[in-house]
Amino acid sequence: MRTLEQLVCPHILNMEAYSSARSEFKGKASIFLDANENTIRTTYNRYPDPLQANLKQAIEPLVQLNQEQIFLGNGSDEAIDLLMRIFCIGGQDAILTLPPTYGMYNVSASLNAIKNIEIPLDANYQPNVAAVLAAQNERTKILFICSPNNPTGNDVDLEKIEQLIEGFDGIVVVDEAYIHFSTQASCVQWIGKYPNLVVLQTFSKAWGMAGIRLGMALANAEIIQLFNKVKPPYNVNVLTQEYALGQLQDLRIFKEDVANILVEREELITQLSALKFVIKIYPSAANFLLIKVEAANQIYQYLVEQGIIIRNRSRVLLCDNCLRITVGTKQENAVLMQRLKAYSKTILV
Ligand SMILES: *Cc1c(COP(=O)(O)O)cnc(C)c1O
Repeated sequence: MRTLEQLVCPHILNMEAYSSARSEFKGKASIFLDANENTIRTTYNRYPDPLQANLKQAIEPLVQLNQEQIFLGNGSDEAIDLLMRIFCIGGQDAILTLPPTYGMYNVSASLNAIKNIEIPLDANYQPNVAAVLAAQNERTKILFICSPNNPTGNDVDLEKIEQLIEGFDGIVVVDEAYIHFSTQASCVQWIGKYPNLVVLQTFSKAWGMAGIRLGMALANAEIIQLFNKVKPPYNVNVLTQEYALGQLQDLRIFKEDVANILVEREELITQLSALKFVIKIYPSAANFLLIKVEAANQIYQYLVEQGIIIRNRSRVLLCDNCLRITVGTKQENAVLMQRLKAYSKTILV
């Protein structure tokens, strides 16, 4: 297996990181005349803490890691992009992805001129471990696994994830954007065990903070140091850090929200399964449902006309005639169901 040093792009390994005004100094000080800020203002006039120490302190107990193992970014999309730039040389290296899956891996690869080698999931939306491992070569640097997977909603078997982490000679990224809705354990438990593992989580889904753009990469300290070296110095702004810190003071709302969303998800499954045009509702460990229907495009268009937007995934590999529906509020789901029932009456059987 290649060492971290062998996997990192040589130019990243050898570059000098930007040294921000405040990170050069260590100790106590009361007058800061080092960063050309407007010193007359007293709120938001200062640059944010580049390493977000206070916020990370609040996150430590949630993920049972220390802050040297946590990277915070402008959404986990930033972490996806930084991973590509740390490990993959444009025009030369490749990533492995397991479609159907989250679209940003491919977008970010394209943007960085990195080849995306796709090894489709099987009919149960599980990885074909042997095929994935057989596809690796000296150019494949990162394997992306999404669990629970978007858009299919299912957990990837933990056993398969571990086989991939053990067998892949490169960085394995497990994107756990929806982990809080799942009953399956997080792969964060393996960070001490596997130096090639990176787990992505986000505050955009269960935490209800998509608007502040905050996501994280969790990994061994050596990998996090690389993130810190490559990231823009002030990638998480003061407003985001403050708001997130406030929200983490009391976890009751978060837990209540997750519980409520899970109740609504089950209710939605019951209701949708009574519709005659619904062929299949895929098992979900997330806050959305993937359903197979008759004539997905027509249903999608009909809902758009009703002012209801869902995600049409019918052109995606292995998702023929599939629609992805986010679990809404009780009221939103009721309106959705009322419209779908009305639609159901218009079609002939
Ligand atoms: C929504 C989502 C993300 C979140 O990205 P952010 O940039 O943190 O908002 C990441 N991965 C997957 C699979 C997602 O569905």
